[in-house]
Amino acid sequence: ILTITDLHKSFGDLEVLKGIDMTMQKGDVVSLIGSSGSGKTTLLRCVNLLEDFERGSIELDGEAIGYRHEGVERRRLSERHIARQRAMTGMAFQQFNLFPHMTAIRNVMLGLTKTKKMAKDEAYAIAEKWLERVGMIERRDHFPGQLSGGQQQRVAIARAIAMNPRIMLFDEVTSALDPELVKEVLAVVRDLADDGMTMLLVTHEMRFARDVSSKVVFMHHGRIHEEGPPEQIFGAPETDRLRGFLANSE
Ligand code: ATP
Repeated sequence: ILTITDLHKSFGDLEVLKGIDMTMQKGDVVSLIGSSGSGKTTLLRCVNLLEDFERGSIELDGEAIGYRHEGVERRRLSERHIARQRAMTGMAFQQFNLFPHMTAIRNVMLGLTKTKKMAKDEAYAIAEKWLERVGMIERRDHFPGQLSGGQQQRVAIARAIAMNPRIMLFDEVTSALDPELVKEVLAVVRDLADDGMTMLLVTHEMRFARDVSSKVVFMHHGRIHEEGPPEQIFGAPETDRLRGFLANSE
């Protein structure tokens, strides 16, 4: 479903991604781990076209994302085209980014009515379904300010998934939460994984990555340093660098 080939990305002189190759099949759950600054978030943001990239390609469901190649030339697609492609992915962020003046259910409905041009009652029914799924149906009429961080994050996840993306991207969705709220959000993510949702996630929760992933990718300085099934990455790491990272992140 996702093929990343020789992806390069720089911010000015700083090369943050130095040639990333990765493939994911439908239903895969891939966790990106690695120390701060290794490029994990940037990789997610390239898949979602929140960042441009200079070299390489990303294909989602067989479609080249962001750029068109014509011979040696490479052109950025039109904004309209990019907006459509962006809607193929759903993203949840560390900061939940809910609209504060809208209730939980209105937040979930917004993309459905605005972007998908869905009728209100249809959007309402879909939003209800997903709020139920993340355990937030009883708070549907609450405003974000009346919800805990964990509850807000669950609404934000429902909002992304209600759009029916081909792949969900999770960027450290528990990092801004108090420890007691982390569990409820991870339970929602795990539930979606069990249900066969294709997911690419950046996480610092090693135990969670071990439990939920079909594959774990360890990044270091903009490259994939080691990758494999969680039993291998956590149980039998091959490189000193990964062993060192794991020892420090317990
Ligand atoms: P963390 O775990 O801390 O989120 P990460 O592995 O996700 O780290 P990135 O956020 O991808 O790392 O950042 C990689 C590098 O790119 C860092 O050195 C960061 O400072 C730099 N960087 C990220 N975004 C920008 C930006 N918009 N402009 C300039 N530099 C940036």
